[in-house]
Amino acid sequence: MPGKVTLVGAGPGDPGLLTRKGLEALERADVVVYDRLVSPAILALMPEGAVKINVGKEASRHPVPQEQINQILLEQAQQGHNVVRLKGGDPFLFGRGGEELELLAEHRIPFEEVPGITSAIAAPAYGGIPVTHRDCCSSLHIVTGHQRAGKELAIDFEALVRTGGTLVFLMGVSALPTICAGLLDAGMAPDTPAAVVERGTTPAQRRVSASLAELPRAAEAAAVQSPAVIVVGDVCALADQFDWFDHLPLKGKRVVVTRPRERAGTLSARLRALGADVWEYPCIATVPITPCPAADGALERLSGYEWLALTSPAGVDAVWACLEGKGLDARALGGLKLAAIGPGTAKALAGHGLRADYIPEVYDAAHLGAGLPARGRVLILRAEEGSPALTEALKGRNIGYDDVACYRTVYENPRSDELRAAVESGAAGIVTFTSASTVKGFVASVGEDADFSRMVGACIGAQTAAEARKHGIPAAVAREATMDALVELITALRD
Ligand code: SAH
Repeated sequence: MPGKVTLVGAGPGDPGLLTRKGLEALERADVVVYDRLVSPAILALMPEGAVKINVGKEASRHPVPQEQINQILLEQAQQGHNVVRLKGGDPFLFGRGGEELELLAEHRIPFEEVPGITSAIAAPAYGGIPVTHRDCCSSLHIVTGHQRAGKELAIDFEALVRTGGTLVFLMGVSALPTICAGLLDAGMAPDTPAAVVERGTTPAQRRVSASLAELPRAAEAAAVQSPAVIVVGDVCALADQFDWFDHLPLKGKRVVVTRPRERAGTLSARLRALGADVWEYPCIATVPITPCPAADGALERLSGYEWLALTSPAGVDAVWACLEGKGLDARALGGLKLAAIGPGTAKALAGHGLRADYIPEVYDAAHLGAGLPARGRVLILRAEEGSPALTEALKGRNIGYDDVACYRTVYENPRSDELRAAVESGAAGIVTFTSASTVKGFVASVGEDADFSRMVGACIGAQTAAEARKHGIPAAVAREATMDALVELITALRD
C-alpha cells in the first residue's frame, strides 16, 4: 500500500502562522521533507520519531535538485510512509509545489495540499503594510524577480505600471536595481512609496522604506539580503503608522527558554507573541521513575494519609503514570485532601478533574510546608532531591510526612559551545529559569567556569534565584511563581 504525501505550507517564519491543518499533518508524519526557508521553531514541531530529510540549500552548498526532491517524495510514499513536504510560505506560490505533485499524480500516489500563509502578504503585514487599501489601489500583483542564469528579467513592467495596483516582488533582492529601473522606465512616478521587508515575521525582521527611485540605494546601504519581499505602491506610505510588529515590547530581545521540552511551548509562544527572539534550549527533562516501589507502596496505603502534596505539573503527570500502572484513576485519591504548590500544579490537577484544597499564598516549597493546614500525615510525591524547605517546615510543625520520589530530573544537553559563546558575548540576553534544576542543567551545558556576567537569569522564585547567584548568574525574581509573573518580569527587564 502506498502512503500519502501532504504538501504543507509552513508560513513565512513566525511559527504561530502555521495553520492548524498543517500542524495536524505534521504531527501525523513519519517522514518530513523540508526546505531552507522553514523556520527552526517550526522544525522543532516535527514529531521526534519522524525521519527528517533536509532538501534546502545551505549557504555554500547546492540545493537538492528539484527532480531528486520529486523522486524522494515518490519513493518515501511508495514505501508506505505518511510524508509531509514542508515548504516556506504557501507551497503553490513560487514554491514549485505543482511540480512535486506531477510525479505523484503520474504514479497514483494519494496527495493533499495544505495552503500556507505566504510571505508575499505576511511580510508586508508584519512591516505595517496592508497590501491593499480602498483609498489607494484595487489590485495586488505578485511577481517573481528571479533571473534565470544569463537571461533578462521577463517582466512586463509597462503592464504592471498600468494596473495601478500594489506590486510585490519575491526573490528580487539581487534584481532590485533592475526592477526599480524597469518600473521607472515604464513611467511609474519616482516618488512612489516602496519598501523592502527582510526576513519578515521573524524576530530578525527589518523594513527599509524609501521612494521607488531611492529604494535600491537605501537597501544597499542597509545591506538587505534574501529572503526579502519588495513592495511598491501607495500602501507603503502607511508603514510607519501601522508598524505594530516592531513596537512589540520584547522586539529584538533574545530570550532563552530552558524549560523541559514538553512544557516549554506555552512560555515560548507567549514570549514570541510579545516579539521576543526565543531560543528553546531545554536543559532538563523529567522522567518518571519506573518501576517505582516507593510510590506504589504509598499509593497502596493512601488511607493512612490526610493530605497529598504535589509540587509541580511534572509531579502530577508522574502520579498519574503510577496510578495508571496500577489500573487506578482519580477515584483512588478520593479520600485525600490535595495541596498544590501553585496555580500551574493546581491546573494540572484540574486537568484530571480534581480541585486543589490548598495552594499557599507564596508559591514555593517553604510556604507550602509552613501553611499546609494538616492534622494528619502528609504524602509528598515529587522529584528526587526535592527542596528540603518543604520537609523542614513540616518537621518544624511536628507534622508527619512521607517524602516519596516518583520522577527524576535529568540534564538534557551535553556541553554546548554555541550556548556558551552566546552567554559570554551577551547574545543570550535573558535566560528563563523555572526551577533550581533548570539552573543546574543550564550551567552544566554552558560550563561551570563560564563568564555569566553578561546575561540575566529571569527566575520564577527566590530558591531558583539563589541557585543562579551561586553560579555567578545575575538574577531577577518574578513577583510570584507563575508564568504570568515571569513574562511580566521579562518584559520589565527588556532594557
Ligand atoms: N512559497 C513562498 C515563496 C518562495 S520563493 C511563499 O509563499 O512565501 C522565496 C522568496 O519568498 C524569497 O526570495 C523571498 O522573496 C520570499 N520570502 C520567503 N520568506 C520570506 C520572509 N520571511 N520574509 C521576506 N520574504 C520572504
